[in-house]
Formats: sequence, structure tokens, C-alpha cells
Amino acid sequence: MEITEKLTNTHELVLIGRDDAIGYHGIIAIHSTALGPAVGGTRFWNYDNEAEALTDALRLSQGMTYKSALAGLPLGGGKSIIIGNSARNRNALLRAHGRFVDTLQGRYITAEDVGTSPADMEIVRLETKYVAGLIGRSGDPSPFTAAGVFRAIQASNYFLWRTLELSGLTVAIQGCGNVGYCLAKELHEVGVRLIVSDVNSENLSRVVAEFGAEAVAPNEIFSVKADVFAPCALGGVLNDETIPQLKVQIVAGSANNQLLEERHGTMLRNRNILYAPDYVANVGGVLNGCTELLGWTSEQAVTKMLAIYDTVLRIFKIAEEEGITPNEAADRLAEERLQRSERPEDRD
Ligand code: NAD
Repeated sequence: MEITEKLTNTHELVLIGRDDAIGYHGIIAIHSTALGPAVGGTRFWNYDNEAEALTDALRLSQGMTYKSALAGLPLGGGKSIIIGNSARNRNALLRAHGRFVDTLQGRYITAEDVGTSPADMEIVRLETKYVAGLIGRSGDPSPFTAAGVFRAIQASNYFLWRTLELSGLTVAIQGCGNVGYCLAKELHEVGVRLIVSDVNSENLSRVVAEFGAEAVAPNEIFSVKADVFAPCALGGVLNDETIPQLKVQIVAGSANNQLLEERHGTMLRNRNILYAPDYVANVGGVLNGCTELLGWTSEQAVTKMLAIYDTVLRIFKIAEEEGITPNEAADRLAEERLQRSERPEDRD
């Protein structure tokens, strides 16, 4: 494999790997290892070009650093990408990716992400031990991630309406995949009305059939009248085009990088829409992985997951008191913790 380094002034290490003989083209981005080894999933996606994939890898890996820092974990932030059509030559590409990950000897630890599964991680595992989320160990993190998003919705609901009761609310979920499905299930069980969209008709029909959700077309989900919008598909969905359409008071979901740009957080605030920062709401998956990565018991992971409620409320409070957006408040808390890690005497 031919490995080249991309120099940035934001990330510790960014590598591009190519193995032309099998058509492998991948990226590993390590944002920070200040708190511990960089952890972040492998995204398998058919990007139009390398630059687009690189932008995603840089943003996603930074998000992982902040996510772990804010949750008080001794882990850093990384992300990797396999660029290409995920159906063709899949096993060989996953194994090449495993060899690429292995060159870092534990500075980066991978897991599943969009386009990869626990079964895929078993294939990556054939080439490297630096992989989590394996079958029979911490496994699929999605139910845990969904449970954390549920806590973020509860906290947002409490902040606005001073009640924990969700029954009678309407939640619009974009994306009914692994996390969206589990979130729909939890919300349905407490009496929430669901409006859903997905580009995959099978995933969509399942939540309609099982939870009585109302299905709308993918581009209609932004303008439906609901209390909460839960983005559970891809990033960048909160932007100049979609924010003016929203008819909700809360945005809380699992997708990473929901804000296309930082300023979209301000745009949401100007519209009086409360935004639970994505990496705070969706940390459940990483917490689940800590049973494997850090030897936590499942009780420890559950306790930390339930605490997402307190973290989200704390962030809203700081944002309100300091006149900043919740995403700015979350970044500030994460950066403070990262700075403390540079002064070992202050470590908590
Ligand atoms: P998934 O691939 O299982 O589900 C995503 C779903 O979104 C799919 O059903 C897909 O068809 C649908 N989708 C794609 N584009 C869409 C569009 N334009 N409109 C509507 N639906 C669309 O992925 P997942 O594991 O459920 O993760 C969902 C999001 O949450 C991702 O952004 C992921 O990075 C993030 N996330 C997931 C976890 C986890 O534990 N799985 C943890 C943290 C963050």
C-alpha cells in the first residue's frame, strides 16, 4: 500500500492510503490523541472525489475528539474512510483498510460507521487488532446511541417545557436506519407521534408498519409541523435552505455534523429553535464501545448514557447565561477539557 501524509494545521495526522491493485482508496484522520488513542468509525461511502471525503474525515474526526472530551473519556478523536462503491470487492477493501489501520499500531482504533457493520469489523479484524464494535463483544452501538438521543430529547423537552413527559409530542425523524429505527421504537413506546422519511423504502416501511409512523417524502421532512426534528441520516442537514423551513422547537438527533457550518447554530437560535449539539446527543455509541475499549461494565456505560440528559441541560444553561449557541457552549466545554489535559497536574 502507498501511504502519503496530508499536512494540515488542525489535525495531528492525516494519511491517504492507496492500493491500486485492488482499487483501495482510503483516508485515516487523527484529530487528537491528547486524551488517549484516537477512536472513530470507518465510513464506507461513494464520494465524488478525494477532497470531499477528506473534508468529511477532518470534520468527523474533530467531532470525535470533542465528543470523547465532553463525555470525560480517556480517548482521542479519529475517523477513517474507504472511498468507493461498497458492494464491489468488499472483503478485499475491508482487509486493505485493516492493514492501513494496523500501520498506526493503536494510535487510531476503528469501529463501524455509516456503510459498515459489526460483521465488516470482523473482516477488518483479520488484519489488525485495533478495531472495536465486534460481534459478541460491544457489537452494534445503534440501540445505545438511540437511547442517548432519547435522553437528549428529554432534556430539551424539560428545558423548554419543564416536564419529562414526552407523550403527545410529535417527532419528525429523518433516516430510519439503525439508529432512526431504535429511536422511533423508544419514542413510540412512550406515546410519541412519529413522522418519518427515508430514501430506503424498506427501512421506511418498517417504522410505518411497526410504529404507526406517518411517512413523508425525503424533502418534506424539514417542513412538517412537529415538536422535535431528529436528524438520523447524514450530516449537513441544517443549512440555509432547510432551517427556514423548520416548524419545530427542538432539533436533537444522531447524525454527525448536522450543522453545515457553525453559523447555522446561530441561525437556529435566531429562529428560537433549541439545538442539542450532535456530538453530545449521539455519544451513546462510543459509551457502548467503552465496554470493549476501556473494560467498562455495561452498568457503567448505562450510567454514562443516562447522564447525557444532564450534559445537554448544562450546555443549554451555559448557552443561555452567556448568550451563545448550544454548539458554541459544547465546543467551549470540550476545549477546556482538552486544554486541561495538556497540564497533567489538572487532569480529572
Ligand atoms: P444507517 O446507515 O443505518 O441509517 C441511515 C439511514 O438514513 C438509512 O436508512 C438511509 O437510507 C437514510 N438516509 C440517507 N439519506 C437520507 C435522506 N436524504 N433522507 C432520509 N433518509 C436518508 O446509519 P445509522 O447507524 O442509523 O446512523 C445514522 C446517523 O447517526 C449517521 O449520521 C451516523 O454517523 C450517526 N451516528 C450513528 C451512531 C451509531 O451508533 N450507529 C453513533 C453516532 C452517530
